[in-house]
Amino acid sequence: MFTHSIRWRLQLWLAFLLVCVLSGFGITVYQLQRMNQFSQIDEELELRVAALDRAVRGGMPPGFGPGRPPFGRGLSKGSFEEGGRRPPPFRGKPDAPFLDGPPPRPKRDVRLSTEVAGLFDESRTNSFYFAAWHRDGALMQQSTNAPPDVPIPERFDRDTQTHTRTRESFREAYHFTEMGECVLAGRSIVADLRATHRFAWWLLAAGAAVLALAIGGGWRLTTRAIRPVEEISAAARRISEGNLSERIRVKDPENELGRLAGVLNSTFARLEVAFAQQKQFTADASHELRTPLTVLISEAQTTLARERSAAEYRETVETCLDTAQQMRRLTESLLELARLDAGLDNLQRAPLDLAETTRACVDLIRPLASQRGIKVSLDLKPAELSGNADRLAQVATNLLTNAIHYNNPAGEIRVATRIENGHALLSVADSGMGISPEDLPHIFERFYRADKSRSRATGRTGLGLAISRAIVEAHGGTIEVSSEPGIGSAFTVKLPAGREEAQKGVVAQILA
Ligand code: ADP
Repeated sequence: MFTHSIRWRLQLWLAFLLVCVLSGFGITVYQLQRMNQFSQIDEELELRVAALDRAVRGGMPPGFGPGRPPFGRGLSKGSFEEGGRRPPPFRGKPDAPFLDGPPPRPKRDVRLSTEVAGLFDESRTNSFYFAAWHRDGALMQQSTNAPPDVPIPERFDRDTQTHTRTRESFREAYHFTEMGECVLAGRSIVADLRATHRFAWWLLAAGAAVLALAIGGGWRLTTRAIRPVEEISAAARRISEGNLSERIRVKDPENELGRLAGVLNSTFARLEVAFAQQKQFTADASHELRTPLTVLISEAQTTLARERSAAEYRETVETCLDTAQQMRRLTESLLELARLDAGLDNLQRAPLDLAETTRACVDLIRPLASQRGIKVSLDLKPAELSGNADRLAQVATNLLTNAIHYNNPAGEIRVATRIENGHALLSVADSGMGISPEDLPHIFERFYRADKSRSRATGRTGLGLAISRAIVEAHGGTIEVSSEPGIGSAFTVKLPAGREEAQKGVVAQILA
């Protein structure tokens, strides 16, 4: 559905905002233009109304002549006294009946001077027209170009201001004189309205063009901005279909999407490695389990092929037992690794001294070392930390048995513990065969054995160091090795140290 598409949603928002902004702008411009046009017409009309006012006053009978206050102002008392006659009071509508009998209507007409007549030149296009009414509403005079039946404007109060009105396609300005007559100037605004309409259409067309341009540009921009996202999702789809070596092509690794693609690529790379390791692990595990199974079956088949003596049967059963025990060790190691991988191995931690844990392990393996004539020397300084004593003992035992197993007869093992730079260190160094530089980077990998045939024959699983590393890492530590072929190897375990750390670990466990 297109409503789910980010691109469409962005476009719709952009279009909505643009329509709002453009219509607001267009309406404002249109109104300003119209106001400007009408104020120009009104100025011209007011000029003419003022001239008409003067002309009407000029056409007054004696006593109403010059001396009147100028157009638009209030009537001065002195001027009426001067004329000896006060005009009848205003009664509302221009043609309202007079309460004290019909007033004498002064004989007035519009006498246009040449200059004023020029303002109403009928020969000019778009010419102005005029009309004047007596105070009783009777038409006094109107120009020949005036439209038929110009209605006299309604007067609502006594004001003598000039008013304007739009009537059909005419704009008119009118004014009531102090004596109550009405003068009006007007002109046709057909051409002006047409121009205004043209302007409105022009605005509409310009707005539509801007809208189309902006939407087109916006579409291009969003398409370009969204393309990397589409590439990312396409690559992710191909990867999820099984092509784990696929990567997202990043054009600009510095922008936001480029950085996201970079992070995803490194995640995919890690996933690929993890899947490959998982695959390898499954294959290796099956292989490792198949070997003792084959031994078991062939031993049993060979023995059962003919009648055997009791001693022969005993020997076969012993071989089968050895093989079964080897299988059990292997399956236990595999289960342990799986638990550590999944984080299910709940490491109950407690404050402990690594020196004491190590000493207990050395005591256990010492008989094996003596059997091979290997000397074990200790330099155990207190090294307190928070950890799981059983698991750390498993690490120490594994390092010690390796040091015995891969040592020379009558060789030497040096075991040390100490605190260094806030870390509890355990080092196990031997004077054995050492590890070649090619094997060194791989010895912590699962099932990796430098000497495969010899190790397997002696029942070694190739999982000891992998399990040790998983335990040490679960404690937040590291395990390192340095080795020189023919001279010996040294393994160093580094764990976060300190009684405080140890206490914190205990408290955290209680709270959890
Ligand atoms: P294994 O059961 O084979 O000992 P480990 O994971 O403990 O498995 O060791 C992996 C490999 O590392 C061994 O097969 C061996 O080749 C090498 N290795 C481990 N410890 C030593 C050591 N102290 N000296 C020489 N080689 C060692």
